[in-house]
Amino acid sequence: MVNFQSATGLKMSHVFAGRHTRRLGEILNLTPAEMTACSYQIESTKPTLVRGEQLRKFDLSRRARRVCPQCLQESAHQQFWWDLLFISHCPIHNVQLVGHCRCGKSLSWGDREIPRCKRCHDGSVLDLPTDAVKSDRRFELWALGRLKVIEPTQKIPMLDDVLLKDAVAIADRVGRLDEVGWAKSWIDSSVTFEDLMRYRESGFAIISDDGLPSLLDRVHRQSEKILDRPPSCMEASLGWFWWWFSHSGGRRFSPELASILTGHFDLKFHVKNKRMNIIAMPRSLMSLKQVSRISGKSYSIVRAALIQRGATKAPSRGSSFAITPDEADWVAENLVDTIEIKEAQAMVGVGWRSWQVLLRRGWLPIVLGPVTYATRRSRSIPFIRRQAVTDWLDAIVDGAPELSECPPSHSTLSGRSRKMTTSFEQLFDRVLDRRVPVVGRLRGQPGLAGVVLRDADFDDLIFRGGGRPRGS
Ligand SMILES: [Zn+2]
Ligand SMILES: [Zn+2]
Repeated sequence: MVNFQSATGLKMSHVFAGRHTRRLGEILNLTPAEMTACSYQIESTKPTLVRGEQLRKFDLSRRARRVCPQCLQESAHQQFWWDLLFISHCPIHNVQLVGHCRCGKSLSWGDREIPRCKRCHDGSVLDLPTDAVKSDRRFELWALGRLKVIEPTQKIPMLDDVLLKDAVAIADRVGRLDEVGWAKSWIDSSVTFEDLMRYRESGFAIISDDGLPSLLDRVHRQSEKILDRPPSCMEASLGWFWWWFSHSGGRRFSPELASILTGHFDLKFHVKNKRMNIIAMPRSLMSLKQVSRISGKSYSIVRAALIQRGATKAPSRGSSFAITPDEADWVAENLVDTIEIKEAQAMVGVGWRSWQVLLRRGWLPIVLGPVTYATRRSRSIPFIRRQAVTDWLDAIVDGAPELSECPPSHSTLSGRSRKMTTSFEQLFDRVLDRRVPVVGRLRGQPGLAGVVLRDADFDDLIFRGGGRPRGS
């Protein structure tokens, strides 16, 4: 191709701008589909397209052009992706694209030949010096993979599932959030081409390494510092980033980003339903209320259990937080059958003092240890499963017959120990060891209160006053 214009009768700048592509196709003997695959479609009222991908007009270099001299040495034609402003390098030769001729002038679409600069005498761009790429260009490789210039690199759902132009914007904004952090409103100070490249690359690294939630946390804390109070709404938590996201279309713009934001806000504060519409509750998360409903347990128990399990952070009073379906399953499985301390005590059929002995000695079948969680008055909740208590009581009675009343010279475990001032602890220790056998179970009496023992089996434990009980 000596001179594009004289050879084709078309102006190169016009062709570049998306005009005359049909005529050029005829000249080059390409089908319309083949032409579309290697040229831009630019119409003022429609999105800019290349290879079926939508771009923003400003993602495309309209006047200046950049080249990879090494590619040109191999084949003297302009690659379409050299004009994408979010591409800064050639992945084949691993060099920066070159936008200036040796004469100092920038290369442009006014140049009549691809391998020459029209503004100087020599004009060859084939041997222009190039800079080796020194930093990671993962975003660019991903984008070039998506445009089928190179083999696709990796799957990034947040970027794969949106239009290419939106993927560029998301990588850019995430990178900026990481670098400039929280601000109430958007500050678009003069950014250079290098800045933009850095933002996109760091944004891409954060997204692909699942670092976005922790970045949002950091920005949230930054906001708390700047505003001098905990952020109480989405705008306060993420500042300009939230505005950008909601104005871009929220969930419709990027479902993946929406679900990460939902998780972020739900862990921080209660989100009103109206605002939730913008990001919508993803199915991967459930609220405390939902879990409370499926398990039939109060908020406080569910919350305390989850905090103890390390599944979630302690939320402040009155706020809700999200838990994953896995955690919800765990709650459903473990808490549905869980009883509170008063109910357990009634089942076991002992008074408070004996209950404390059972707790202290670790005799009770407690599934989870006591939980302390932060409310105004912090307290402990032992988690006890109904079935475990029933099994435990059955094992103590060990098939002893049911009796309608307590026979003479016999006592019930808790009744005897109270009446005769026997140490409950010592007596029960022997019952568990089978040194004092259980004779029967008294009908109508709960748990240990109905355990019938023969007095003669533990006479030595009876405390008669005047010193320590015998047998201790
Ligand atoms: Zn190259
Ligand atoms: Zn020149």
